[in-house]
Amino acid sequence: MENKIRVGVSSCLLGNPVRFDGGHKHDRYITDVLGNYFEFIPVCPEVECGLPVPRETMRLVGDPVSPKLLTTKTGIDHTSRMLSFCNRKVKELEKENLSAFIFKKNSPSSGLYRVKVYGNSGMARKNGRGLFAASMVNAYPLLPVEEEGRLQDAHLRENFIEKVFCYQRWKDFLANAPDYKKLILFHACHKLQIMAHSTKHLSAMGKLVASGKKTGPKELFFSYQENLLEALNLKATVKKNVNVLQHIMGYFKKDLTSDEKAELLGVIDSYSWQHLPLVVPLTLLNHYIRKYKVEYLQNQTYLEPHPAELMLRNHV
Ligand code: SF4
Repeated sequence: MENKIRVGVSSCLLGNPVRFDGGHKHDRYITDVLGNYFEFIPVCPEVECGLPVPRETMRLVGDPVSPKLLTTKTGIDHTSRMLSFCNRKVKELEKENLSAFIFKKNSPSSGLYRVKVYGNSGMARKNGRGLFAASMVNAYPLLPVEEEGRLQDAHLRENFIEKVFCYQRWKDFLANAPDYKKLILFHACHKLQIMAHSTKHLSAMGKLVASGKKTGPKELFFSYQENLLEALNLKATVKKNVNVLQHIMGYFKKDLTSDEKAELLGVIDSYSWQHLPLVVPLTLLNHYIRKYKVEYLQNQTYLEPHPAELMLRNHV
C-alpha cells in the first residue's frame, strides 16, 4: 500500500485522555495492528463541542429516534450544543476523505449500536445511537462503520476490514480517471468477493456493467458503488464461502489428480463444519491456482481482500 487508509475514530480509543473522568479507552488492536494500515483522524464530540475534561457524565433520554443528551445528575441539556457541533463536524470531515469510522461503544455521543436511552420512568432500553454517530451515518450512509467492541468478534472484524479495503480500492478507482473499460476490469477482479456476500448483487452488478455503455458514467459508477457496498454489508457466511470455494475449484477440477481432488474436497468439507478456518482451504486453492496457472483466478480480490499479516481469515 502506498498510502495508509484514512479512518475516523473516537479519540479516546487512540489513548487520548478525553473521557469524562480524564481517562481514555486505548484499544491496542486499533492502534498497534490496524494502525499499520490505517491513518486515524480522531474525533471526540464531547470535547470538541466545548465540554471540559473532566465533566459530568451524560445519557440519552426520551425518544430513541431523536433523544436528548442530558447530564446524568444535574439534568443539563446539551442536545443543541452537540447537534450543532455534529452538523459542523460532518461537513468538515468531507475534506478528510475518510474510508471508514470506528466508534466507541455505549457512548451517548459516539456509540453506534444499542446505546441506552432512558425513558421518563428512569428505565433504559438499549435501542439508541450516540448523537454524533447518528449524524455520521445520516451524512455518509455508505461509509463502512463499526464499533471497537464488535471488532473483537472475528467474523464482524473480518467483514468490516474487508469492506474498508474494498471501499478504498473503489475510491482509488474513482480517483484515477475511471472509465467503462476500467470498470469492467474492476468488476472482473471483484466477482468472487461479491459472490461471497451476495449472488443476487453479483448478478445485478453483472447486468449493470454489461449495459453500462448506455448509461452515463456518473450514474453507472454511482449505481455500481451503491450495489458494491450494499453487497459487502451482507455477511459472508460459511455457507456462502463454501459456495465460492467450490466455484473456484471448478476452474481446475479436471487438472487435479484424484488425490489432490480428495484432499481439497476434504479441506473444504472440514471448513464447512468449522473444523478448520477459511485460511486453510484458501491456501490450498492458491497453491493449485499457481500450479495450474489459472490466470483469471490469480487476479481475484477474494483470495486476498486484505493484508495476510492481519490474519483475519485464520479465525473465521
Ligand atoms: S466516547 Fe466519544 S465522546 Fe466519549 S470520550 Fe470517547 S470520543 Fe469522546
